[in-house]
Amino acid sequence: MLVIEDEESFVEALVVGLKREGFLVTVGRDGIEGLQLFDKVRPDLILLDLWLPKKTGIDVCREIRARSRVPIIMVTAKSSEIDTVVGLEVGADDYVTKPFRLRELVARMRAVMRRAPGGDEPDDIGETIEVDGLCLDPERHEVRLRGELVSLPLKEFELLELLMGNAGRVLTRETLIDRIWGSNYVGDTKTLDVHIKRLRAKVEQDPSRPARITTVRGLGYKFEQPRS
Ligand code: CA
Repeated sequence: MLVIEDEESFVEALVVGLKREGFLVTVGRDGIEGLQLFDKVRPDLILLDLWLPKKTGIDVCREIRARSRVPIIMVTAKSSEIDTVVGLEVGADDYVTKPFRLRELVARMRAVMRRAPGGDEPDDIGETIEVDGLCLDPERHEVRLRGELVSLPLKEFELLELLMGNAGRVLTRETLIDRIWGSNYVGDTKTLDVHIKRLRAKVEQDPSRPARITTVRGLGYKFEQPRS
């Protein structure tokens, strides 16, 4: 899980307690670091403080919600703040008010995690792309592999969407970079390969011998159509 909280004394005791409960805990100290860690550790659950340096918990929550359905529990200092946050519809799954008992927090954590994975109804409206057990839903911004949610940062999601939407066709490196990073992209050309590698690690059975996202030497990449 990821804890995004700046209050040092509070964090320490919390982390000790959570670890004792069996959670693997990563801590972000401000809103920016929290978002970076979110991409890095792909937590199954986020405990997010409302008042954070650099970016408020409200903004952090909205940004995470734009790309993931990971359960988020917001932590507020006063219960009156809960009403404000709920009113803003930032997309958190639950709220706790400081000070809270660890037991209460853990009960809520387990509850939101239970609700999280299978809780979604199947959605077969329109544009969902499915290839051989891998399902991408652009509307919900969700990818599932044989029903299991796959957490992808925005660029990886967009890349997969582009590849799957053109399954069976070779997409050149130029096309992919252009479409995902924009035609003015001047960064490292390895960025594309790094993203492909990360995607393969998540959607391939054997990432060292990719069967879905294949390399077309000298050209680019292709999302394979299953042979029937
Ligand atoms: Ca704070």
